[in-house]
Amino acid sequence: MPDKQQLFRSIPPVDGLLQEESFRDLARVWGESRLYQSVQKQLAELRQAIGRGEIESQDELSPAGIFMRVKRDYEEDNALLLQPVINCTGISLHTNLGRSPLDRNLMERVVDIGHAYSNLEYRLQEGRRGSRYDALEDQLKKLLGVESAMVVNNNAAAVMLMLRALARDKEAIVSRGELVEIGGKFRVPDVMEESGATLREVGTTNKTRLEDYEQAMGDETACILKVHRSNFRLEGFQEEVSIEDLVKLAHEKGSLILYDLGSGLLHPEPPAILRNEPTVQEAVAAGCDLISFSGDKLLGGPQAGIIVGRKNLIEQIKANPLTRALRCDKLTLIALQETLRIYPDPERINREIPLFRMLSQTSEELIAKCQKLAHHLSSEELPAKIIETRGEVGGGSAPGLYFTTPALAIEGKDVDFSLDVLEEALRLGEIPVISFIQNDQLIFDLRTVADEEFAPLVEAIQEALDKVRNPMPTSGQKRKVE
Ligand SMILES: *Cc1c(COP(=O)(O)O)cnc(C)c1O
Repeated sequence: MPDKQQLFRSIPPVDGLLQEESFRDLARVWGESRLYQSVQKQLAELRQAIGRGEIESQDELSPAGIFMRVKRDYEEDNALLLQPVINCTGISLHTNLGRSPLDRNLMERVVDIGHAYSNLEYRLQEGRRGSRYDALEDQLKKLLGVESAMVVNNNAAAVMLMLRALARDKEAIVSRGELVEIGGKFRVPDVMEESGATLREVGTTNKTRLEDYEQAMGDETACILKVHRSNFRLEGFQEEVSIEDLVKLAHEKGSLILYDLGSGLLHPEPPAILRNEPTVQEAVAAGCDLISFSGDKLLGGPQAGIIVGRKNLIEQIKANPLTRALRCDKLTLIALQETLRIYPDPERINREIPLFRMLSQTSEELIAKCQKLAHHLSSEELPAKIIETRGEVGGGSAPGLYFTTPALAIEGKDVDFSLDVLEEALRLGEIPVISFIQNDQLIFDLRTVADEEFAPLVEAIQEALDKVRNPMPTSGQKRKVE
């Protein structure tokens, strides 16, 4: 073991370190002063470690050893920043991973329009003030044949606004079978209460009939609210009233029928997986007064809440002060506009909206992707095999609809490290990779991996494997000197 004085003397000077190429690269992304601070801190810690006799090898004091520590500092600094990840869960609408991904070309148009001044609230033809929602309203009217449309921050806001503007201090009738909790402890009844409308529950958990609605209706009734069971399914004995019958009843009684459709499928020729999902077009055809849905679920666009339907009702909602508080940013509006521009052509939807690109992949295509990845892994001496796993669309759509789908699995028994360690190394890599472990298998479901992500995925796995197989010393942990 080298003596302490010798170790102290071999600590490199800060200025010299900062000239090293690896440090120069880091300075460009992190900034000179933050890098300098970190180097100072690492050197101070190393001095203390030498004093305590914890440094056993000169390697830890080499520029490369110090760079490792500084880089860890950098990574910790940035761990919470939003960054791209590679989604290997196969869940297309993954709420934790940003729900609907957006096409790169579409985002380029967002940059083109969003970076500059735009006619956000200005009518070019008339040279006067306009509304930021004019374009979207026009698009939605043409696409759906509705009288009017508006957009707010998300669908939760849309539901609250509809009730606030149209049912405040009155009653909104909802089936007990539709009082859903959407996720993140977000419950429909709570939103409704915030709106100032009184929730009038009818029916039972599994069965609600037309007469249940009918009996509850009276002078206090402002509307019937139908809520799509976006994230669960009732099995066994159950009964619900069709939207057509609800429309008829509401209108006979002189009240409104609002439909919180949630998932918002607008694709006229959706992939087979979504065949049971209600569409916005169906809800419009049924004659609902207002329909609300999310922009980032089955529409495949940015986060937004879209309301379509009767003009006089939408005017009332627009006039509500809360609408201003829940308005959308221009970047969202541009992304939504560009998404809706794809919709008139079903072929383009499948090609240009990432969600539908992912959902329309065939088993053969997925197997070919798995084989290609397996091939890369075998050259890393990592055996992997193709399995059938359970797939789902996710994000509050196609509830309870699971399908079998091919995926690539690494078996715990085939490797000499723990799968947990590899899963973590993947998650903490330069480009984080989100995979999952099931039945002692580390699984990559490649449905959600875009073609352009394939090469980065291979590289990320190589890097993670390298870390797992050649663990570096961490601070406080001693490495034996050979
Ligand atoms: C997802 C969902 C919501 C909430 O929509 P956000 O856009 O996430 O705010 C509300 N109602 C239903 C039925 C949903 O599925």
